[in-house]
Amino acid sequence: EPVLTFRGVSKAYGPTRAIDALDLAIEAGSFVALVGASGSGKSTLLKTVNRLVEPTTGSVTFDGADVAELALAGLRRRIGYVFQSIGLFPHMSVAENIAIGPRLAGERLPEDRIGELLEWVELDRAMASRMPDELSGGQRQRVGVARALAAQPQLLLMDEPFGALDPVTRDALGERVRKLHEELGLTTVMVTHDMAEALLLADRVLVMDAGRIVADETPQSLVAGA
Ligand code: ADP
Ligand code: ADP
Repeated sequence: EPVLTFRGVSKAYGPTRAIDALDLAIEAGSFVALVGASGSGKSTLLKTVNRLVEPTTGSVTFDGADVAELALAGLRRRIGYVFQSIGLFPHMSVAENIAIGPRLAGERLPEDRIGELLEWVELDRAMASRMPDELSGGQRQRVGVARALAAQPQLLLMDEPFGALDPVTRDALGERVRKLHEELGLTTVMVTHDMAEALLLADRVLVMDAGRIVADETPQSLVAGA
């Protein structure tokens, strides 16, 4: 059962075709990696889902509804988004950063829940009162993941989430996110330029080139064909 469907999706920036008549269905519960060279359209495709980008033509359907027809706040509540970096608000504590989504919806995230989210990403509960500039890069990305999960989303979108981290931190956080994906029954779509990371974490690897999907493989078939 697809939870996410792209039908004839194109996105043009002037003469640049970032996405070119793309069709794709993503099954509920899958962990999909979007790989490809810089400029191939990965970020733009991801951003059409939570409407950070509006397609020029075509439609994106999430859980049976056209995203263009859903209320933006409700849509973004159901979709967790992890940015590459600079994702945390520097003037807010870790706890305030994690609670920002629910707070914008008029809800208070209980302290216990914030502690639980911190533990999910293997951070100490005492980190809640820290400011982002007191954290390492890896800790900040962990907080970014905790924040994305705060509103109990069905879908987790990640744009180069581990790209700026050292290899050891990257593997540890990647494996943690893979476990959370399974435990929480999420559908996850991750943009990465790192094929090794895609092979390690995803169960479906989509290769993009010039706004199109040029390969759609399981990690097993990619490794066998290499
Ligand atoms: P990727 O994530 O694979 O690096 P992007 O989706 O960021 O690729 O970009 C795809 C193409 O669209 C690139 O040519 C990029 O320069 C262009 N592009 C992306 N966002 C914008 C924008 N806001 N304005 C103009 N061009 C953009
Ligand atoms: P990310 O994809 O992690 O957001 P990028 O550096 O690719 O980081 O893009 C940062 C922002 O700049 C995005 O909002 C993207 O849409 C926009 N952008 C990317 N390429 C271009 C471009 N060629 N012209 C204008 N804006 C762009």
